[in-house]
Amino acid sequence: MSGTIICGYDVETASDNTIGFLEGAEELHDRLGVPWTIYLTGKTLEKHSEMISQMVDNPLLNIAQHTYSHVLLKSIYMRPGDDKPVHNSYPNFFNKGGSLPEIREEIEKTQALIHDLLGVECRGLTGPWGYYRGLVDRPDLLEILSDNGILCIRTNARDSRDCQPTPFTEQPFFYADQGFPEILELGVQGYQDDFYWDRFDDRSHGNNYQDYLFSMLQEVSEKNWIWNICSHDHDTSSKEVFMETKGKWIRELLERARDLNIRFLTPDDLYEEMKNPAHNI
Ligand SMILES: [Zn+2]
Repeated sequence: MSGTIICGYDVETASDNTIGFLEGAEELHDRLGVPWTIYLTGKTLEKHSEMISQMVDNPLLNIAQHTYSHVLLKSIYMRPGDDKPVHNSYPNFFNKGGSLPEIREEIEKTQALIHDLLGVECRGLTGPWGYYRGLVDRPDLLEILSDNGILCIRTNARDSRDCQPTPFTEQPFFYADQGFPEILELGVQGYQDDFYWDRFDDRSHGNNYQDYLFSMLQEVSEKNWIWNICSHDHDTSSKEVFMETKGKWIRELLERARDLNIRFLTPDDLYEEMKNPAHNI
C-alpha cells in the first residue's frame, strides 16, 4: 500500500446546511467504510447537539473542535497577486486573529461542550481559516492547546501568500522544536474545499476540481504522501443536495483512492503510528 488519506470536515454553520452535510456525509462514509472527523464549532454543537449525540457512537466518526465561534488563532493576510478580488476585497484581504484570552476561552468552552453534550474527550482541533506555516511561530497558542488536551491539529493550511493550495510537501510533523513534542500538526494539503479551487481558478490539471483531485491522488500514491482532505458544511441544505455536490466529489475521490490502494486513517491512528514508528498499523 502507498499513500494515506485522512478525511476531516469543518462543521460550523449552525444551520440547515449542517443537517444536510452530516446526514449525507454519514451515509456516504458508512457506505464506503471510510473514517471521518468533524471539527465542530461550539455554536454548531449547541444548536445540533441532539442530532450529533445520536451519531457519536458511529465507529467511523471522530469528534474534534473548531473553536466556539470560529475565532481565528492567527491573522491571515491573503495576497493572491492575480488581479482578482478575494473574499470581496481587492487586491488583498486581511482577517484579524483573536486575542490570546479570547482564544483560550473559546477553546476551553468548546472542550467542555463536547465533553458535556457528547461524552467525548476531544483531542483534535482545526484552526479557523488555516494559516501559513501552522503554529510553528506561535508557542503561546500551542501552550493553550496543550493545556486543553489537544494533541492533533490542522492549522498548516495556506501557502506563502496565505492563499492555497498548500503544497503536499507540507507533511504532518510534531511541534518538538517549539517545546510541544506531543502536538501533531496534520495540515490540510491542497485546497481547503471546492470553492477555494474555484477562487484560485487552478486549471493546471484540467477544467474541474475532480481533475485536480485525481491528479493529486496519483502523486499521493506514488510519493507515499499523507493527504488530509477538507470540506465544509456550506451549501448543503439537504442530504440530496450534499450527494449531488460535495458528496459527489468526495465519493469519487475516495473510490479512486481505494482503487489506487491508498489507505484511510483517523488522526489518532496516524498519531500513534508517528509517535511509535515501530508500531505498524
Ligand atoms: Zn472553518
